[in-house]
Amino acid sequence: MADETTLLPNPKDTLRRVFGFPDFRGVQGDVVNRVLAGRSTLAVMPTGAGKSLTYQLPAVMMEGTCIVISPLIALMHDQLRSARANGVRAATLTSADSDWRETMNTFRAGELDLLYVAPERASQPQFLDFLTSAPVALFAIDEAHCVSEWGHDFRPDYRGLRPLLDSFPDIPRLALTATADRHTRADILGQLGIPEDGLIVAGFDRPNIRYDIRHRDNPVKQITRLMEEHPGPGIVYAPTRRKVEELALKLAAATGRDVLPYHAGLPGDERAANQAAFVASEDMVMVATVAFGMGIDKPDVRFVAHAGIPKSIEAYYQETGRAGRDGDPSQAMMFWGAEDFVLARQRLAEVEGERQQGEKVRLDALAALVETPGCRRAVLLRHFDEDPPEQCGNCDNCIDPPKVVDATELARKLLSAVYRTGQSFGFGHIQKVLVGMEDDRVRQRGHDKLSVFGIVSREEAPMLQPLVRALKARGALIQTEHNGLALSGDARLILLGERPVSIAQPPPRSKSVRGKSGQ
Ligand code: ADP
Ligand code: ZN
Repeated sequence: MADETTLLPNPKDTLRRVFGFPDFRGVQGDVVNRVLAGRSTLAVMPTGAGKSLTYQLPAVMMEGTCIVISPLIALMHDQLRSARANGVRAATLTSADSDWRETMNTFRAGELDLLYVAPERASQPQFLDFLTSAPVALFAIDEAHCVSEWGHDFRPDYRGLRPLLDSFPDIPRLALTATADRHTRADILGQLGIPEDGLIVAGFDRPNIRYDIRHRDNPVKQITRLMEEHPGPGIVYAPTRRKVEELALKLAAATGRDVLPYHAGLPGDERAANQAAFVASEDMVMVATVAFGMGIDKPDVRFVAHAGIPKSIEAYYQETGRAGRDGDPSQAMMFWGAEDFVLARQRLAEVEGERQQGEKVRLDALAALVETPGCRRAVLLRHFDEDPPEQCGNCDNCIDPPKVVDATELARKLLSAVYRTGQSFGFGHIQKVLVGMEDDRVRQRGHDKLSVFGIVSREEAPMLQPLVRALKARGALIQTEHNGLALSGDARLILLGERPVSIAQPPPRSKSVRGKSGQ
Protein backbone atom coordinates (compact mmCIF):
# COMPACT_ATOMS: atom_id res chain seq x y z
CA MET A 1 0.00 0.00 0.00
CA ALA A 2 2.75 2.43 1.00
CA ASP A 3 4.57 1.70 -2.24
CA GLU A 4 1.48 2.30 -4.30
CA THR A 5 0.73 5.66 -2.73
CA THR A 6 4.27 6.91 -3.10
CA LEU A 7 3.98 6.21 -6.80
CA LEU A 8 0.93 8.46 -7.11
CA PRO A 9 1.46 12.15 -7.68
CA ASN A 10 0.84 14.18 -4.55
CA PRO A 11 -2.61 15.87 -4.41
CA LYS A 12 -1.08 19.07 -3.09
CA ASP A 13 1.29 19.27 -6.01
CA THR A 14 -1.64 18.92 -8.38
CA LEU A 15 -3.58 21.52 -6.37
CA ARG A 16 -0.79 24.04 -6.90
CA ARG A 17 0.23 23.08 -10.40
CA VAL A 18 -3.22 22.72 -11.99
CA PHE A 19 -5.52 24.87 -9.84
CA GLY A 20 -3.03 27.42 -8.58
CA PHE A 21 -4.12 27.23 -4.92
CA PRO A 22 -1.44 27.06 -2.23
CA ASP A 23 -3.52 24.88 0.10
CA PHE A 24 -6.71 22.96 0.61
CA ARG A 25 -9.48 24.84 2.36
CA GLY A 26 -11.41 23.31 5.23
CA VAL A 27 -12.32 19.68 4.62
CA GLN A 28 -11.34 19.69 0.92
CA GLY A 29 -8.19 17.68 1.65
CA ASP A 30 -10.11 15.04 3.60
CA VAL A 31 -12.62 14.61 0.82
CA VAL A 32 -9.96 14.43 -1.90
CA ASN A 33 -7.90 11.87 0.01
CA ARG A 34 -10.90 9.67 0.63
CA VAL A 35 -11.92 9.79 -3.00
CA LEU A 36 -8.38 9.06 -4.18
CA ALA A 37 -8.42 6.03 -1.89
CA GLY A 38 -11.44 4.84 -3.87
CA ARG A 39 -13.97 5.25 -1.08
CA SER A 40 -17.48 6.59 -1.59
CA THR A 41 -18.16 9.85 0.20
CA LEU A 42 -20.89 12.36 0.96
CA ALA A 43 -19.40 15.82 1.36
CA VAL A 44 -21.65 18.42 2.95
CA MET A 45 -19.97 21.74 2.38
CA PRO A 46 -21.52 25.19 2.45
CA THR A 47 -21.81 27.26 -0.69
CA GLY A 48 -18.50 28.78 -1.58
CA ALA A 49 -16.49 26.20 0.36
CA GLY A 50 -15.06 24.82 -2.87
CA LYS A 51 -16.96 21.63 -3.63
CA SER A 52 -16.01 21.49 -7.32
CA LEU A 53 -12.36 21.08 -6.50
CA THR A 54 -13.06 17.91 -4.52
CA TYR A 55 -13.95 16.03 -7.69
CA GLN A 56 -12.01 18.07 -10.24
CA LEU A 57 -8.70 17.39 -8.56
CA PRO A 58 -9.21 13.62 -8.26
CA ALA A 59 -10.48 13.66 -11.86
CA VAL A 60 -7.16 15.07 -13.00
CA MET A 61 -5.16 12.57 -10.93
CA MET A 62 -7.15 9.40 -11.48
CA GLU A 63 -7.06 7.04 -14.42
CA GLY A 64 -10.25 7.42 -16.47
CA THR A 65 -13.03 9.99 -16.60
CA CYS A 66 -14.99 11.49 -13.74
CA ILE A 67 -18.69 11.56 -14.57
CA VAL A 68 -20.35 14.57 -12.95
CA ILE A 69 -24.11 14.52 -12.48
CA SER A 70 -25.43 18.05 -12.28
CA PRO A 71 -29.03 19.28 -12.40
CA LEU A 72 -28.77 22.47 -14.43
CA ILE A 73 -27.28 23.12 -17.84
CA ALA A 74 -26.28 26.65 -16.87
CA LEU A 75 -24.45 25.28 -13.86
CA MET A 76 -22.63 22.73 -16.00
CA HIS A 77 -21.48 25.31 -18.48
CA ASP A 78 -20.13 27.53 -15.71
CA GLN A 79 -18.21 24.60 -14.31
CA LEU A 80 -16.99 23.66 -17.76
CA ARG A 81 -15.59 27.10 -18.34
CA SER A 82 -13.72 27.25 -15.06
CA ALA A 83 -12.39 23.69 -15.43
CA ARG A 84 -11.11 24.38 -18.93
CA ALA A 85 -9.58 27.64 -17.75
CA ASN A 86 -7.38 25.50 -15.50
CA GLY A 87 -6.45 23.25 -18.39
CA VAL A 88 -8.66 20.40 -17.17
CA ARG A 89 -10.04 18.31 -20.03
CA ALA A 90 -13.80 18.70 -19.58
CA ALA A 91 -16.95 18.37 -21.66
CA THR A 92 -20.73 18.41 -21.26
CA LEU A 93 -23.35 16.20 -22.85
CA THR A 94 -26.54 18.24 -22.84
CA SER A 95 -29.31 19.19 -25.20
CA ALA A 96 -27.60 22.56 -25.57
CA ASP A 97 -24.41 21.03 -26.98
CA SER A 98 -23.75 20.42 -30.66
CA ASP A 99 -20.40 18.65 -30.27
CA TRP A 100 -21.77 15.34 -29.04
CA ARG A 101 -19.87 13.17 -31.48
CA GLU A 102 -16.56 14.80 -30.62
CA THR A 103 -17.23 14.55 -26.89
CA MET A 104 -18.12 10.87 -27.16
CA ASN A 105 -15.00 10.15 -29.18
CA THR A 106 -12.79 11.99 -26.73
CA PHE A 107 -14.31 9.98 -23.89
CA ARG A 108 -13.78 6.71 -25.73
CA ALA A 109 -10.17 7.67 -26.38
CA GLY A 110 -9.72 8.13 -22.63
CA GLU A 111 -8.87 11.79 -23.09
CA LEU A 112 -11.47 13.36 -20.79
CA ASP A 113 -10.99 14.21 -17.13
CA LEU A 114 -14.55 15.41 -16.56
CA LEU A 115 -17.82 14.69 -18.28
CA TYR A 116 -20.89 16.61 -17.09
CA VAL A 117 -24.33 15.18 -17.65
CA ALA A 118 -27.84 15.77 -16.32
CA PRO A 119 -29.51 13.10 -14.16
CA GLU A 120 -32.28 12.41 -16.67
CA ARG A 121 -29.68 11.51 -19.27
CA ALA A 122 -27.38 9.65 -16.88
CA SER A 123 -30.21 7.38 -15.79
CA GLN A 124 -30.93 6.15 -19.32
CA PRO A 125 -29.70 2.66 -20.30
CA GLN A 126 -27.94 4.02 -23.41
CA PHE A 127 -25.74 6.12 -21.18
CA LEU A 128 -24.69 3.07 -19.21
CA ASP A 129 -23.75 1.32 -22.48
CA PHE A 130 -21.78 4.36 -23.52
CA LEU A 131 -19.84 4.43 -20.24
CA THR A 132 -18.66 0.86 -20.69
CA SER A 133 -16.66 2.00 -23.72
CA ALA A 134 -13.89 3.63 -21.66
CA PRO A 135 -12.65 3.64 -18.06
CA VAL A 136 -14.64 5.62 -15.50
CA ALA A 137 -12.72 6.97 -12.50
CA LEU A 138 -15.39 8.48 -10.31
CA PHE A 139 -19.05 9.42 -10.15
CA ALA A 140 -19.57 12.89 -8.70
CA ILE A 141 -23.19 13.66 -7.85
CA ASP A 142 -23.64 17.39 -7.42
CA GLU A 143 -26.61 18.88 -5.52
CA ALA A 144 -27.08 15.42 -4.05
CA HIS A 145 -29.93 16.54 -1.74
CA CYS A 146 -32.10 16.35 -4.87
CA VAL A 147 -32.19 12.56 -4.37
CA SER A 148 -34.05 12.92 -1.08
CA GLU A 149 -37.72 13.60 -0.61
CA TRP A 150 -36.68 15.09 2.71
CA GLY A 151 -34.40 17.50 0.94
CA HIS A 152 -35.78 20.83 -0.11
CA ASP A 153 -35.43 20.25 -3.82
CA PHE A 154 -36.44 16.69 -4.62
CA ARG A 155 -35.92 15.68 -8.24
CA PRO A 156 -37.23 12.26 -9.20
CA ASP A 157 -34.53 11.86 -11.89
CA TYR A 158 -31.94 11.57 -9.15
CA ARG A 159 -33.63 8.37 -7.99
CA GLY A 160 -32.93 6.86 -11.40
CA LEU A 161 -29.16 7.10 -10.86
CA ARG A 162 -28.84 4.15 -8.55
CA PRO A 163 -28.88 1.42 -11.24
CA LEU A 164 -26.10 3.23 -13.10
CA LEU A 165 -23.99 3.57 -9.97
CA ASP A 166 -24.59 -0.05 -9.02
CA SER A 167 -23.43 -1.18 -12.48
CA PHE A 168 -20.00 0.12 -11.50
CA PRO A 169 -19.62 -1.31 -8.01
CA ASP A 170 -15.88 -0.61 -7.85
CA ILE A 171 -16.07 3.02 -8.91
CA PRO A 172 -16.28 5.43 -5.97
CA ARG A 173 -19.19 7.85 -5.64
CA LEU A 174 -18.80 11.36 -4.38
CA ALA A 175 -22.08 13.03 -3.44
CA LEU A 176 -21.94 16.77 -2.86
CA THR A 177 -24.41 19.14 -1.30
CA ALA A 178 -24.39 22.49 0.42
CA THR A 179 -27.51 21.93 2.39
CA ALA A 180 -28.65 18.87 4.17
CA ASP A 181 -30.03 18.46 7.65
CA ARG A 182 -29.47 15.25 9.56
CA HIS A 183 -32.46 13.46 8.13
CA THR A 184 -31.60 14.40 4.54
CA ARG A 185 -27.97 13.33 4.97
CA ALA A 186 -28.98 9.89 6.14
CA ASP A 187 -31.38 9.66 3.23
CA ILE A 188 -28.71 10.62 0.68
CA LEU A 189 -26.32 8.00 2.06
CA GLY A 190 -29.01 5.34 1.78
CA GLN A 191 -30.31 6.37 -1.61
CA LEU A 192 -26.88 6.55 -3.21
CA GLY A 193 -25.38 3.55 -1.44
CA ILE A 194 -22.65 5.41 0.40
CA PRO A 195 -21.45 3.94 3.73
CA GLU A 196 -22.25 5.91 6.88
CA ASP A 197 -18.59 6.50 7.63
CA GLY A 198 -18.33 8.26 4.29
CA LEU A 199 -19.97 11.44 5.59
CA ILE A 200 -17.72 14.48 5.72
CA VAL A 201 -19.28 17.73 6.94
CA ALA A 202 -17.60 21.09 6.73
CA GLY A 203 -18.20 23.86 9.24
CA PHE A 204 -21.25 25.89 8.29
CA ASP A 205 -20.49 29.11 10.02
CA ARG A 206 -20.09 32.20 7.86
CA PRO A 207 -18.85 34.61 10.51
CA ASN A 208 -18.61 37.61 8.19
CA ILE A 209 -22.34 37.49 7.43
CA ARG A 210 -24.53 39.47 9.81
CA TYR A 211 -28.00 37.98 10.10
CA ASP A 212 -30.93 40.27 10.64
CA ILE A 213 -34.54 39.11 10.57
CA ARG A 214 -37.39 41.50 11.12
CA HIS A 215 -41.03 42.07 10.49
CA ARG A 216 -41.95 43.51 7.12
CA ASP A 217 -43.93 46.73 7.31
CA ASN A 218 -42.81 48.70 4.28
CA PRO A 219 -40.51 46.56 2.14
CA VAL A 220 -39.54 49.29 -0.32
CA LYS A 221 -38.55 51.63 2.47
CA GLN A 222 -36.84 48.87 4.44
CA ILE A 223 -34.80 47.62 1.49
CA THR A 224 -34.00 51.17 0.43
CA ARG A 225 -32.44 51.73 3.83
CA LEU A 226 -30.46 48.55 3.51
CA MET A 227 -29.22 49.65 0.09
CA GLU A 228 -28.18 52.99 1.50
CA GLU A 229 -26.06 51.19 4.07
CA HIS A 230 -24.47 49.02 1.38
CA PRO A 231 -23.27 50.72 -1.77
CA GLY A 232 -21.85 47.42 -3.04
CA PRO A 233 -23.61 44.66 -5.00
CA GLY A 234 -26.65 43.02 -3.48
CA ILE A 235 -29.37 40.48 -4.17
CA VAL A 236 -33.00 40.93 -3.17
CA TYR A 237 -35.09 37.77 -3.27
CA ALA A 238 -38.80 38.22 -3.87
CA PRO A 239 -41.39 35.44 -3.86
CA THR A 240 -43.05 35.95 -7.26
CA ARG A 241 -42.20 37.22 -10.71
CA ARG A 242 -44.66 40.06 -10.32
CA LYS A 243 -43.12 41.15 -7.03
CA VAL A 244 -39.66 40.97 -8.60
CA GLU A 245 -40.66 43.33 -11.41
CA GLU A 246 -42.47 45.67 -9.06
CA LEU A 247 -39.71 45.83 -6.45
CA ALA A 248 -37.01 46.33 -9.07
CA LEU A 249 -38.80 49.37 -10.46
CA LYS A 250 -39.60 50.85 -7.06
CA LEU A 251 -36.12 50.32 -5.65
CA ALA A 252 -34.50 51.83 -8.72
CA ALA A 253 -36.76 54.86 -8.40
CA ALA A 254 -36.21 55.19 -4.66
CA THR A 255 -32.43 54.85 -4.69
CA GLY A 256 -31.39 55.93 -8.17
CA ARG A 257 -29.20 52.85 -8.28
CA ASP A 258 -28.75 50.25 -10.96
CA VAL A 259 -31.42 47.66 -10.15
CA LEU A 260 -32.30 44.80 -12.50
CA PRO A 261 -34.92 42.05 -12.33
CA TYR A 262 -34.26 38.34 -12.80
CA HIS A 263 -36.81 35.54 -12.97
CA ALA A 264 -37.61 32.53 -15.10
CA GLY A 265 -40.32 34.43 -16.98
CA LEU A 266 -37.86 36.80 -18.64
CA PRO A 267 -36.55 35.95 -22.11
CA GLY A 268 -33.38 33.85 -21.95
CA ASP A 269 -31.14 36.49 -23.48
CA GLU A 270 -32.36 39.19 -21.12
CA ARG A 271 -31.79 36.92 -18.14
CA ALA A 272 -28.29 36.08 -19.33
CA ALA A 273 -27.52 39.75 -19.94
CA ASN A 274 -28.79 40.80 -16.50
CA GLN A 275 -26.79 38.07 -14.83
CA ALA A 276 -23.62 38.98 -16.72
CA ALA A 277 -24.11 42.66 -15.86
CA PHE A 278 -24.52 41.79 -12.20
CA VAL A 279 -21.45 39.58 -12.06
CA ALA A 280 -19.35 42.32 -13.65
CA SER A 281 -20.78 45.16 -11.57
CA GLU A 282 -19.49 46.68 -8.37
CA ASP A 283 -22.71 48.30 -7.24
CA MET A 284 -25.67 46.65 -8.94
CA VAL A 285 -28.63 45.21 -7.11
CA MET A 286 -30.43 42.21 -8.56
CA VAL A 287 -34.04 41.65 -7.57
CA ALA A 288 -34.75 38.01 -8.29
CA THR A 289 -36.73 34.91 -7.61
CA VAL A 290 -34.77 31.94 -6.27
CA ALA A 291 -34.12 31.01 -9.90
CA PHE A 292 -31.17 33.36 -9.53
CA GLY A 293 -27.91 32.58 -7.85
CA MET A 294 -27.11 28.91 -8.33
CA GLY A 295 -23.64 28.56 -9.73
CA ILE A 296 -22.91 32.26 -9.69
CA ASP A 297 -19.41 32.94 -8.48
CA LYS A 298 -19.45 36.56 -7.37
CA PRO A 299 -17.33 37.01 -4.27
CA ASP A 300 -18.20 40.63 -3.39
CA VAL A 301 -21.98 40.48 -2.85
CA ARG A 302 -22.43 42.75 0.18
CA PHE A 303 -26.01 41.98 1.09
CA VAL A 304 -28.75 39.46 0.44
CA ALA A 305 -32.26 40.53 1.34
CA HIS A 306 -35.39 38.41 1.50
CA ALA A 307 -38.57 40.35 0.85
CA GLY A 308 -40.58 37.31 1.99
CA ILE A 309 -39.77 34.08 3.80
CA PRO A 310 -37.52 31.56 2.05
CA LYS A 311 -38.69 27.99 1.56
CA SER A 312 -36.72 26.55 4.44
CA ILE A 313 -33.68 27.09 6.63
CA GLU A 314 -31.64 25.21 4.04
CA ALA A 315 -32.81 27.53 1.30
CA TYR A 316 -32.21 30.55 3.54
CA TYR A 317 -28.70 29.41 4.33
CA GLN A 318 -27.93 28.76 0.68
CA GLU A 319 -29.40 32.04 -0.53
CA THR A 320 -27.79 34.20 2.16
CA GLY A 321 -24.56 32.27 1.60
CA ARG A 322 -24.14 34.16 -1.66
CA ALA A 323 -23.18 37.20 0.40
CA GLY A 324 -19.59 37.85 1.37
CA ARG A 325 -17.76 34.96 -0.21
CA ASP A 326 -14.68 37.17 -0.17
CA GLY A 327 -14.80 37.10 3.63
CA ASP A 328 -15.56 40.81 4.01
CA PRO A 329 -18.42 41.99 6.27
CA SER A 330 -21.79 41.38 4.64
CA GLN A 331 -25.41 41.34 5.64
CA ALA A 332 -28.30 38.92 5.30
CA MET A 333 -31.62 40.57 5.96
CA MET A 334 -35.01 38.91 5.99
CA PHE A 335 -38.31 40.80 6.05
CA TRP A 336 -41.12 38.48 6.97
CA GLY A 337 -44.85 38.75 7.32
CA ALA A 338 -47.31 36.49 9.08
CA GLU A 339 -49.14 36.09 5.77
CA ASP A 340 -46.01 34.39 4.34
CA PHE A 341 -46.45 31.60 6.86
CA VAL A 342 -50.19 31.49 6.39
CA LEU A 343 -49.70 30.97 2.66
CA ALA A 344 -46.95 28.42 3.14
CA ARG A 345 -49.12 26.43 5.53
CA GLN A 346 -52.01 26.53 3.09
CA ARG A 347 -49.74 25.15 0.38
CA LEU A 348 -48.53 22.51 2.77
CA ALA A 349 -52.00 21.05 2.91
CA GLU A 350 -51.80 20.37 -0.82
CA VAL A 351 -48.55 18.40 -0.61
CA GLU A 352 -49.02 14.67 -0.54
CA GLY A 353 -47.48 11.73 1.23
CA GLU A 354 -44.28 11.68 3.23
CA ARG A 355 -43.24 14.98 1.72
CA GLN A 356 -45.94 16.82 3.62
CA GLN A 357 -44.44 15.86 6.95
CA GLY A 358 -40.99 16.86 5.74
CA GLU A 359 -42.22 20.22 4.58
CA LYS A 360 -44.07 20.83 7.81
CA VAL A 361 -40.95 20.16 9.84
CA ARG A 362 -39.01 22.53 7.58
CA LEU A 363 -41.59 25.27 7.92
CA ASP A 364 -41.69 24.90 11.72
CA ALA A 365 -37.90 25.15 11.82
CA LEU A 366 -38.03 28.31 9.74
CA ALA A 367 -40.69 29.77 12.03
CA ALA A 368 -38.49 29.05 15.02
CA LEU A 369 -35.60 30.91 13.38
CA VAL A 370 -37.82 33.88 12.60
CA GLU A 371 -39.39 33.98 16.04
CA THR A 372 -36.37 33.36 18.23
CA PRO A 373 -35.38 36.17 20.57
CA GLY A 374 -31.98 34.44 20.80
CA CYS A 375 -28.99 34.22 18.50
CA ARG A 376 -29.92 33.62 14.85
CA ARG A 377 -26.59 32.04 13.99
CA ALA A 378 -26.93 29.58 16.85
CA VAL A 379 -30.33 28.46 15.52
CA LEU A 380 -28.92 28.12 12.00
CA LEU A 381 -25.85 26.17 13.01
CA ARG A 382 -27.77 23.89 15.34
CA HIS A 383 -30.03 23.13 12.41
CA PHE A 384 -26.97 21.82 10.62
CA ASP A 385 -26.06 19.73 13.63
CA GLU A 386 -23.30 21.97 14.90
CA ASP A 387 -22.77 22.96 18.48
CA PRO A 388 -22.35 26.75 18.35
CA PRO A 389 -21.88 29.17 21.25
CA GLU A 390 -25.10 30.73 22.62
CA GLN A 391 -24.16 34.17 21.28
CA CYS A 392 -22.44 35.13 18.05
CA GLY A 393 -22.24 38.87 18.49
CA ASN A 394 -23.03 39.40 14.81
CA CYS A 395 -26.79 39.05 14.43
CA ASP A 396 -29.67 41.39 15.21
CA ASN A 397 -30.62 39.63 18.42
CA CYS A 398 -27.06 39.49 19.74
CA ILE A 399 -26.35 43.11 18.90
CA ASP A 400 -29.64 44.45 20.21
CA PRO A 401 -31.25 41.80 22.37
CA PRO A 402 -35.02 42.09 22.29
CA LYS A 403 -36.79 42.20 25.61
CA VAL A 404 -38.72 38.99 25.84
CA VAL A 405 -42.12 39.05 27.46
CA ASP A 406 -44.17 36.12 28.61
CA ALA A 407 -47.34 36.13 26.53
CA THR A 408 -48.76 32.80 27.66
CA GLU A 409 -51.81 34.32 29.37
CA LEU A 410 -52.50 36.72 26.54
CA ALA A 411 -52.19 33.87 24.04
CA ARG A 412 -54.77 31.90 26.02
CA LYS A 413 -57.15 34.87 25.98
CA LEU A 414 -56.65 35.34 22.27
CA LEU A 415 -57.07 31.68 21.33
CA SER A 416 -60.06 31.44 23.59
CA ALA A 417 -61.68 34.42 21.83
CA VAL A 418 -61.00 32.85 18.46
CA TYR A 419 -62.58 29.64 19.67
CA ARG A 420 -65.62 31.20 21.32
CA THR A 421 -66.47 33.36 18.34
CA GLY A 422 -66.60 30.26 16.17
CA GLN A 423 -63.21 30.32 14.42
CA SER A 424 -64.41 32.33 11.47
CA PHE A 425 -63.61 35.98 12.27
CA GLY A 426 -60.55 37.93 11.27
CA PHE A 427 -58.10 39.63 13.59
CA GLY A 428 -59.91 42.99 13.54
CA HIS A 429 -63.06 41.53 15.02
CA ILE A 430 -61.25 39.35 17.54
CA GLN A 431 -59.29 42.36 18.68
CA LYS A 432 -62.46 44.40 19.24
CA VAL A 433 -63.96 41.62 21.29
CA LEU A 434 -60.81 41.22 23.38
CA VAL A 435 -60.36 44.89 24.18
CA GLY A 436 -64.09 45.32 24.73
CA MET A 437 -64.95 47.57 21.83
CA GLU A 438 -68.58 47.37 20.82
CA ASP A 439 -69.71 47.86 17.27
CA ASP A 440 -72.77 46.65 15.34
CA ARG A 441 -71.18 43.41 14.29
CA VAL A 442 -69.98 42.62 17.79
CA ARG A 443 -73.43 43.33 19.22
CA GLN A 444 -75.35 41.50 16.47
CA ARG A 445 -73.34 38.35 17.05
CA GLY A 446 -73.72 38.67 20.78
CA HIS A 447 -69.97 38.73 21.18
CA ASP A 448 -70.27 41.48 23.79
CA LYS A 449 -71.86 38.85 26.02
CA LEU A 450 -68.92 36.47 25.81
CA SER A 451 -66.65 35.93 28.80
CA VAL A 452 -63.70 37.00 26.68
CA PHE A 453 -65.25 40.39 25.92
CA GLY A 454 -62.94 43.11 27.21
CA ILE A 455 -60.51 40.80 29.00
CA VAL A 456 -57.44 42.34 27.40
CA SER A 457 -56.11 45.41 29.16
CA ARG A 458 -54.91 48.64 27.60
CA GLU A 459 -51.31 47.63 28.40
CA GLU A 460 -51.67 44.22 26.79
CA ALA A 461 -53.43 45.39 23.64
CA PRO A 462 -50.33 46.45 21.65
CA MET A 463 -48.98 42.92 22.06
CA LEU A 464 -51.91 41.31 20.26
CA GLN A 465 -50.67 41.97 16.75
CA PRO A 466 -47.13 40.61 17.25
CA LEU A 467 -48.63 37.70 19.16
CA VAL A 468 -50.92 36.79 16.28
CA ARG A 469 -47.89 36.98 14.02
CA ALA A 470 -45.94 34.62 16.22
CA LEU A 471 -48.85 32.21 16.57
CA LYS A 472 -49.38 32.21 12.82
CA ALA A 473 -45.69 31.60 12.21
CA ARG A 474 -45.67 28.57 14.48
CA GLY A 475 -48.94 27.31 13.07
CA ALA A 476 -51.11 27.61 16.18
CA LEU A 477 -53.34 30.00 14.28
CA ILE A 478 -54.27 29.44 10.67
CA GLN A 479 -56.33 31.46 8.27
CA THR A 480 -59.62 30.08 6.96
CA GLU A 481 -60.79 30.45 3.38
CA HIS A 482 -62.65 33.65 4.25
CA ASN A 483 -59.71 35.12 6.15
CA GLY A 484 -60.98 34.10 9.53
CA LEU A 485 -58.65 32.88 12.25
CA ALA A 486 -58.87 29.27 13.37
CA LEU A 487 -57.00 27.12 15.87
CA SER A 488 -54.49 24.56 14.71
CA GLY A 489 -51.20 22.91 15.65
CA ASP A 490 -50.40 23.30 19.33
CA ALA A 491 -53.19 25.84 19.99
CA ARG A 492 -54.93 23.36 22.27
CA LEU A 493 -51.83 22.91 24.41
CA ILE A 494 -51.40 26.65 24.66
CA LEU A 495 -55.04 27.05 25.68
CA LEU A 496 -54.57 24.43 28.36
CA GLY A 497 -51.59 26.38 29.66
CA GLU A 498 -49.25 23.53 28.80
CA ARG A 499 -47.19 25.47 26.27
CA PRO A 500 -45.55 28.72 27.26
CA VAL A 501 -45.51 31.48 24.67
CA SER A 502 -43.06 34.33 24.71
CA ILE A 503 -42.60 37.10 22.21
CA ALA A 504 -40.25 39.99 21.71
CA GLN A 505 -41.52 43.15 23.38
CA PRO A 506 -43.07 45.35 20.70
CA PRO A 507 -41.56 48.83 20.41
CA PRO A 508 -43.51 51.49 22.31
CA ARG A 509 -46.31 53.08 20.30
CA SER A 510 -47.62 56.58 20.68
CA LYS A 511 -51.22 55.43 20.60
CA SER A 512 -52.81 52.28 21.87
CA VAL A 513 -55.37 50.33 19.88
CA ARG A 514 -58.15 51.93 21.88
CA GLY A 515 -56.76 55.39 21.49
CA LYS A 516 -56.45 54.95 17.75
CA SER A 517 -60.06 53.99 17.39
CA GLY A 518 -61.05 57.18 19.08
CA GLN A 519 -62.29 55.76 22.31
P1 ADP B 1 -19.11 25.61 -4.05
O1 ADP B 1 -19.45 24.76 -5.25
O2 ADP B 1 -18.80 24.81 -2.83
O3 ADP B 1 -20.12 26.68 -3.79
P2 ADP B 1 -16.94 26.42 -5.68
O4 ADP B 1 -16.45 25.08 -6.03
O5 ADP B 1 -17.69 27.18 -6.73
O6 ADP B 1 -17.78 26.39 -4.35
O7 ADP B 1 -15.71 27.30 -5.18
C1 ADP B 1 -15.91 28.59 -4.66
C2 ADP B 1 -14.68 29.45 -4.90
O8 ADP B 1 -13.60 29.03 -4.08
C3 ADP B 1 -14.17 29.39 -6.32
O9 ADP B 1 -13.87 30.70 -6.74
C4 ADP B 1 -12.93 28.54 -6.23
O10 ADP B 1 -12.01 28.85 -7.24
C5 ADP B 1 -12.40 28.88 -4.86
N1 ADP B 1 -11.58 27.82 -4.24
C6 ADP B 1 -11.86 26.49 -4.22
N2 ADP B 1 -10.89 25.82 -3.56
C7 ADP B 1 -10.00 26.73 -3.12
C8 ADP B 1 -8.79 26.65 -2.36
N3 ADP B 1 -8.30 25.50 -1.91
N4 ADP B 1 -8.13 27.80 -2.10
C9 ADP B 1 -8.62 28.99 -2.56
N5 ADP B 1 -9.75 29.13 -3.27
C10 ADP B 1 -10.44 28.03 -3.55
ZN1 ZN C 1 -26.06 36.01 17.24
